[in-house]
Amino acid sequence: MTDASQTGRVLVVNAGSSSLKYQLVDVASGEALAKGSVQRIGEDGSTTTHEAGGETHTKEVQVASHGAALDAVVAAFREHGPDLDHADLVAVGHRVVHGGDRFSEPVVVTDEVLAAVEKLEPLAPLHNPANLEGIRVARERFPGLPQVAVFDTAFHHSLPAEAYTYAVPPAWRDDLAVRRYGFHGTSYAYVSRRTAGMLTRPEQDINVVILHLGNGCSAAAVAGGRSIDTSMGLTPLEGLVMGTRSGDIDPGLFAFMVRSGMSVDDVDSALNRESGLKGLTGTNDFREVQELVDAGDADGQLGFEVAAYRLRKYVGAYAVALGRLDALVFTAGVGEHSPQLRSAVCEGLGILGVELDETANTARVSGERQISSARSRVSVLVVPTNEELEIARQAAALVRR
Ligand code: ADP
Repeated sequence: MTDASQTGRVLVVNAGSSSLKYQLVDVASGEALAKGSVQRIGEDGSTTTHEAGGETHTKEVQVASHGAALDAVVAAFREHGPDLDHADLVAVGHRVVHGGDRFSEPVVVTDEVLAAVEKLEPLAPLHNPANLEGIRVARERFPGLPQVAVFDTAFHHSLPAEAYTYAVPPAWRDDLAVRRYGFHGTSYAYVSRRTAGMLTRPEQDINVVILHLGNGCSAAAVAGGRSIDTSMGLTPLEGLVMGTRSGDIDPGLFAFMVRSGMSVDDVDSALNRESGLKGLTGTNDFREVQELVDAGDADGQLGFEVAAYRLRKYVGAYAVALGRLDALVFTAGVGEHSPQLRSAVCEGLGILGVELDETANTARVSGERQISSARSRVSVLVVPTNEELEIARQAAALVRR
């Protein structure tokens, strides 16, 4: 019998400050029936891209606001299909970056939910306002459909206090909700489930470290399907070396730079946008970092090694937190596509019983795969993430409950 909570279609919306990405997902098959994006909202030369039925349609249009962007999306569906009016839509699923300590599950959006998410804006000033704007315009355009907010932080709600608590004054923690929240939770929820599927073991029985390595990067220790630690914190700045974010630094560095004459905003911006691989190598595109490494460029090599060393440290720490490591899983753009980085991470992890099969690691294949040797005590996997499908599934399950 088909589980009714896992049927129907969901329009998944991911609204950023100047872009709006979307997918029409068939929940039962997991297939994206159409996907696309509107780029450069509110700037000159906005573009829309719509992929459906094996064709890609790109258009230059003037899109001044998120409302206009959603109108352009509806127009693209009307022009190129599928027909949204007959798509068996059960919900619009929205990615919301920060759910604070209030949202541990997806929720159907109400005025009260909107107000609560708005209150969280100080915690995610770059993301939450845009996510909210996406919800507001979708409510207007699709008034008959439930709007479901799915939070990036929700999967980490299970973190124990010793993992989420910063050793800072009580007023910061009590009055300003300062704690580690963690991000990429939707990706972790998806990858954790798929990992159990690949290992043919129940999710509750396995302890895994998942490395989500895209432009933003984080690690998570997942015990029995529940996150017990993660590397991003109050904001996405903490943890691993990322495309443009520093990850872990001495917190004293912030005051040091301010006393050196920089403004607070400039330091914040430099740590978020000019640091990480970009700060070390000149580029945040991992393919270009690899080209630098291959060409023997010293900055490229240092950047690569700093990133790989940080990753090894986190895997080691999380293996200890988990007590037993069944799998180490790589996902997202860099994790899925860089055998060099996977190899550099795993090389130092022999002490944990990790051994790569280099042939499997470098094989030019995509999709879910095992890349550890038969002898390895830890399964090393590559699992392509699918955050849109996870949002669609969670939204459908919620509205059909
Ligand atoms: P986002 O965090 O924006 O969702 P992605 O998960 O798409 O990011 O990952 C983007 C990163 O993946 C970029 O640094 C890009 O260079 C890297 N990447 C994509 N394809 C490859 C590849 N074939 N080899 C190495 N890195 C890749």
